[in-house]
Amino acid sequence: MDGSLAEFLDQSVWTGKVYIDGWNDGTGGTEAVTAPADGALVGTIGRATARDLARAAASAAAAQPAWEATAPEERAAILNRAADILQANADELIPWIIRESGSIPPKAGIEIEHSAGFLRAAAEAALEPRVLALKSVDGREAEEQLIRVAHGVVGVISPFNFPLILSIRAIAAALATGNAVVHKPDPRTPISGGVMIARAFEDAGLPSCLLHIVPGGAEVGAAMCADPNIAMVSFTGSPEVGSKVGEACGRNLKKVQLELGGKNALIVMDDADLDIAASNAAWGTWLHQGQICMATGLILAPVAKAAMLAEMLATKAHHLPVGNPAMDACALGPLIVEAEAKRIEAIVEDAVAKGATLHVGGKAKGTMFPATVLSGVKPGMRAFEEEIFGPVAVVVAYTDEAQAVELANMSDFGLVGSVIGSDVARAKALGMRLKVGHLHINDQTVTASPIAPFGGRGRSGNGSRISGPAIWEEFTQYVWVTTKPAATPYPF
Ligand code: NAD
Repeated sequence: MDGSLAEFLDQSVWTGKVYIDGWNDGTGGTEAVTAPADGALVGTIGRATARDLARAAASAAAAQPAWEATAPEERAAILNRAADILQANADELIPWIIRESGSIPPKAGIEIEHSAGFLRAAAEAALEPRVLALKSVDGREAEEQLIRVAHGVVGVISPFNFPLILSIRAIAAALATGNAVVHKPDPRTPISGGVMIARAFEDAGLPSCLLHIVPGGAEVGAAMCADPNIAMVSFTGSPEVGSKVGEACGRNLKKVQLELGGKNALIVMDDADLDIAASNAAWGTWLHQGQICMATGLILAPVAKAAMLAEMLATKAHHLPVGNPAMDACALGPLIVEAEAKRIEAIVEDAVAKGATLHVGGKAKGTMFPATVLSGVKPGMRAFEEEIFGPVAVVVAYTDEAQAVELANMSDFGLVGSVIGSDVARAKALGMRLKVGHLHINDQTVTASPIAPFGGRGRSGNGSRISGPAIWEEFTQYVWVTTKPAATPYPF
């Protein structure tokens, strides 16, 4: 690592600090951030309180109008520079992501590349027309326009699993459309989910007070949903917390965007190449230890092929080492905390007790959970019904297409569906019967793009989307403007 790169995340700048009007002390003291792999200290951040949140929101509200009035080209240039900065410092940033969130190096690299992609896509969106013409229908001969205006201050709340991407995709969308941002990263990943972002925008020249980072827990998130200076909350996380956030925002009449969990089915058609299907299912299930909202949660295979597919997955699982990605060559790193490993063990035990077959894995060692394969999974088992958020391949047999669709649609979630088969038209026709927000034919479920609207149906969200066209749809609102050349008289 050369000297200039090492300075980008210079710890003397941010250790023990929150980012409110620059790097300052929070009133919540400081907190150690530890590595999920071995408990080693990664860094120390400042902890914000509800009081700090209020200060940040007031500062953001004061700064926002000037930002909205800034030329779109200038906003776009700052977003593009932030993308350049992340990419230029990737060699320094990747090891932080590896240690803080237990990511294997390719996943950490994906965080940088996709985050840069979200920033660049938001920069392009910033240049889209803010003013749309509307055809006048009531004969008043007024020029009619729809002018899209920013909400004001957007509060962002993000989870631990992809802390950089899932924070940036909302922050970039909000800033691109002229909003200011107060961002609360998950307290377990505030460096990749907060410090890196603040540093990138600082160096990119974002004017001061437009972005504040308030590392903290539920109480800071709850304060965000009640703060009068915050007009919208963009939340990514669990359905349980999402529904609390939605309820609080509803009570306080705030716009809310919810990106929640998934129990995503990958349907293997009877004409699929089984090797390819197994490879897709393995990646979709085990990438980042299954801690992905888009993770493959059910692998649906024809009765005649399910046992073979489970064996193929088990063979792969035996060859996927689990370890500390900061030190070992491994395919799976740790889960975020040990309690998660215990929860997932209980899901596997429940399936086995109810008649499922455990082919490999199922037992954790601390935060380390091996690639696991269950087959013979059925409705009524927790492995069938719950979002596991861990590295468990759940193989379910189906008798015909109608049953495959029925099994896939039994979930309350509706984020992603995948279908793998040789007859593409047939696979797509079947896929279109799934209640999902993303459908992938001949691909696994973990697929995202900075220009595609991301989000799901049912318990996966509240019908909102993020990215692509959803940048303007969600992060601005319309002002309807009519203009007559001169005022005219009315009947009285
Ligand atoms: P979580 O809901 O526990 O936490 C998410 C964030 O909410 C954290 O920053 C947390 O501090 C904050 N929070 C907790 N209580 C709060 C409250 N009362 N008010 C406001 N904020 C509060 O989620 P997690 O365990 O960190 O992440 C896993 C979940 O996130 C899974 O369900 C996963 O599917 C989902 N997820 C969804 C997406 C998506 O885009 N749809 C992406 C990644 C993860």
